[in-house]
Amino acid sequence: MSEQEAYDRKASRMLLQDTKQSGDYEDPAAWLRETDIVSHDFPYAASLIAESFKDWLGQAVPSFAKSWNWCVLNFEAEWIDPIFEFRQGRWKTEWEEAAEACLRSGGMHAVEVQEAGQARTLLAMPIFTRGHGEIFAVLGCEMPAEQYASGGIHTAEAMAMHFQTCFYHKFEHVFVSDLAGVHLHAERESSRRSLLFQIVQRMHDNIDVNAVLTEVIDSIAAMYPGARLDLFMSQDHRSTHPQVKPLPLRWASNDVCARAFKDGRVALHAGREDSCTVEVGLPLGGKQGVYGVFHMVMDKPSFREVDLRFLTMVADTAGTAFENAKLYERSNQLIRELRMSNELTQRLNQSLRLGDIFQFAFEELLGMFEADYCCILHMNEERGGLEVIACNHTPLLGELVEAGQGLGGKVYTSGEPLLLSDYKYAAGATSKLMDATGSQSLIATPLSVGGEVRGAIMLAHKDAHFFSYDSYRLLQAMAGHIGLAVGNARLHAEVRRLANRDSLTGLFARHYLDEEIKQRQATDFCGSLIVVDIDQFKTVNDTYGHQKGDKILKQVSEIVKSSIRQGDIAARWGGEELAVYLPQLGVQQAVFVAERIRKRVMGETEPRVTVSCGIAEWSWTDERVSVESLFYRADMALYEAKNNGRNQVVIDNKTVENTLKNPWA
Ligand code: GH3
Ligand code: MG
Ligand code: MG
Repeated sequence: MSEQEAYDRKASRMLLQDTKQSGDYEDPAAWLRETDIVSHDFPYAASLIAESFKDWLGQAVPSFAKSWNWCVLNFEAEWIDPIFEFRQGRWKTEWEEAAEACLRSGGMHAVEVQEAGQARTLLAMPIFTRGHGEIFAVLGCEMPAEQYASGGIHTAEAMAMHFQTCFYHKFEHVFVSDLAGVHLHAERESSRRSLLFQIVQRMHDNIDVNAVLTEVIDSIAAMYPGARLDLFMSQDHRSTHPQVKPLPLRWASNDVCARAFKDGRVALHAGREDSCTVEVGLPLGGKQGVYGVFHMVMDKPSFREVDLRFLTMVADTAGTAFENAKLYERSNQLIRELRMSNELTQRLNQSLRLGDIFQFAFEELLGMFEADYCCILHMNEERGGLEVIACNHTPLLGELVEAGQGLGGKVYTSGEPLLLSDYKYAAGATSKLMDATGSQSLIATPLSVGGEVRGAIMLAHKDAHFFSYDSYRLLQAMAGHIGLAVGNARLHAEVRRLANRDSLTGLFARHYLDEEIKQRQATDFCGSLIVVDIDQFKTVNDTYGHQKGDKILKQVSEIVKSSIRQGDIAARWGGEELAVYLPQLGVQQAVFVAERIRKRVMGETEPRVTVSCGIAEWSWTDERVSVESLFYRADMALYEAKNNGRNQVVIDNKTVENTLKNPWA
């Protein structure tokens, strides 16, 4: 510590002690006058003594005393003043002895010396502190001995008193400017502290990531208006604030930002000697890591260490506030995602029909992602490609996309999701959806059902950079739910199909036929039922074996199936009896169908079998309409056909009667 620094510190300490007392004085000047140095301060007073000595010598020494030589020593009789020639050895010892004597006695001490035959007097005079009268310096005066004798001593004494006044003048000046300096410093510190407090409060008031960043940038900018400030963020750089930028991918190795980001500590670069700016890198970090770095370029002369401390505190606070806001945002996002996925699954669970599932998924996704367009592709094996099963750009509905073609086809074949920020710059990518709708951003994901990719989901927006990484991730999660729902619907459809079919013949099962007829009877005007029974089937089995019998049963079933219209229902009624219901057909047409079946069976089966058919018809004019009576009558007709020699078609009696009664029916 230099003497000056030590003195300054001392002055500050005194000031702090005295501040309390100064309040007791009505007149600050009186307080200042009574402020004094004490023996503790003497070791630090040398420069002040030297300066006041120089001033005093320059202004206060009268002309006749100018030829006298003056010097000053400290409270331990050591030299303070460096400018006099006798410092270089002239009467050095004599002066020191005189000063020591003076210090010992507490009064003036004179010594006579000889120079070139002339007597000269060395006079050492004590300089007292104004309060307690302690000697803090010794003023020396060398004059001709005769002048000393003739009253020079009094002049010297008066001048010593004047020196004391000069010293105190200087002391007060230094003291007051110190006081002012300390005061200014304290004021600046306190305003900084209150500003920091305000910033901290405002930052923690914000739970929005963007607002925290804006707050901290604006606060620093307001405090350092001349500084250049940027904030480089590793993520979240899509802030609305123009000074928030993405973290560069490459830094120079000694870059302050790179250092600050890597080490998570403040980095400073003062540049070369002649550079007039200083660069600061301040990390924006919290407990979980560093999110970005503030880069500041400031004016070197006005930059102090205290600024660095202050900025570090601001950056630390900002880091914590940012992290809190981020966690809050993240938890909100998770809650939102959970709610959305819950809503989607709820909606998807409302139906087990594939068509509904795709429609629901399509509607939910459009709303959830605020997308302009949604397009769902689903593999249609019969058509041999991906079918546009749902899309709000209707011209594309039902279109077929080849696997591997277009963005959707590529997502399907690769099984990889896709995030496209700007379609314009996506080299080599072509998409009918994007072209037709003029969209710029896209997120797409494969649609997997039971571990197998069965389609693709695409969401598009007219603006570039619309979808965030979070949306891209969320879509994949949603596709998982949709895939599950699609899988369930397919399974359900398959189970229903199996439950309604007979496994040997592929015809409908009896309960399905019963159900269908019942429903038709509630809405239609009429309908006919044909019961088909293979003749002498027991013998066929006995002759060719049961397996062959099964094959014949299948052959007959195929003939039945291919002999009826699309809306007609053929079922296995039981054993080797089949039944065909012909909605809205009268008995006349039913006879045609039955005859066709009978003839074809006779001609096409191998080994050849024949069938007998019984037909009954119902009409809305009947007294009682029921499935049971319809079957009963058809069965009766069949019984008659068997009795009449088989291989023939018989209409049941009641139907015949009705027909005779009403020939136009
Ligand atoms: P008909 O009808 O002309 O009076 O003589 P039928 O010999 O066909 O007599 P019935 O209808 O009483 O006998 C049906 C036979 O059909 C009995 C059974 O062995 C055979 N049968 C029933 N279901 C099957 C089947 O699923 N596979 C085979 N191979 N035979 C069956
Ligand atoms: Mg039979
Ligand atoms: Mg039978």
